[in-house]
Amino acid sequence: MIISVASGKGGTGKTLVATSLALALSDKCKVQLLDCDVEEPNAHIFLPLAISESQPVLIPVPKVDEAKCTYCGRCAEVCVYSAIAVIKEKVLIFPELCHGCGACSYLCPESAISEEGREIGVVEMGNSGNMGFIQGRLAIGEPMAPPIIREVKKYLDPIREVIIDVSPGTSCPVVEAIKGSNFCLLVTEPTPFGLNDLSLAAELVRKLQIPCGVVINRSGVGDEKLEQYCHEQDIPILLKIPLDRNIATLYSRGIPLVRGMPEWREAFGKLFQNIKQVVSLGAIK
Ligand code: SF4
Ligand code: SF4
Repeated sequence: MIISVASGKGGTGKTLVATSLALALSDKCKVQLLDCDVEEPNAHIFLPLAISESQPVLIPVPKVDEAKCTYCGRCAEVCVYSAIAVIKEKVLIFPELCHGCGACSYLCPESAISEEGREIGVVEMGNSGNMGFIQGRLAIGEPMAPPIIREVKKYLDPIREVIIDVSPGTSCPVVEAIKGSNFCLLVTEPTPFGLNDLSLAAELVRKLQIPCGVVINRSGVGDEKLEQYCHEQDIPILLKIPLDRNIATLYSRGIPLVRGMPEWREAFGKLFQNIKQVVSLGAIK
């Protein structure tokens, strides 16, 4: 089963949940944790593993053979990302804007465009006992996370229980990371901001037709509106993690909840069982 762990906003404890769920499951079965929060991958901080392998991620960007080019401007016309411009007798390429779609090289009437790989980040791997770990890392200054996320997901092993740590928000990288999941766990907190961002994230997973449930972190602060929303929207609340100084201290020291407070293992095991039950019911919440 593929479970993505997402949140409408940053700082809700998404990685705490993803790592503790993966560690609790790894006691009993083979697990894979994919860190698809590629702009700021931090799940590895909480895991007892070392990165053992790294692969560059390249996207194809155009390279113009000026000897063949007639400066017709067709390539600039077809590029919807404005990554290529033709000015008089010069073709300018802006590699940071290029999405590597290949349209310009395919449609160049003179076959003057070839492609060369440009590195935009890396995929890194490691192992710890029953857990395989893959993370993507977008290079500093690079704007496009989805190609790195797609590359990370190529390593997904469907025979294992797979947990995907998704970047916060509701933008393209989130969609790329979540799609294909059997279930999406939405981590939030009971505050007005938490409620607002949860509602946006819930709308997104509904559009993707993925069943979802909620983990309320820092339960006990704020008000009841978040729980009311979940009840009204028929979104199951699968776990509550209280606002607790010990939990915050563990997090700040990079110690996973289920390691620092082993009594939480059972709660995360039960969370997984509840997710399985929701998925087996086949309901799109
Ligand atoms: S489409 Fe081909 S020939 Fe036309 S300007 Fe671009 S590179 Fe040159
Ligand atoms: S590969 Fe696609 S995005 Fe890149 S310059 Fe060509 S048309 Fe534009």
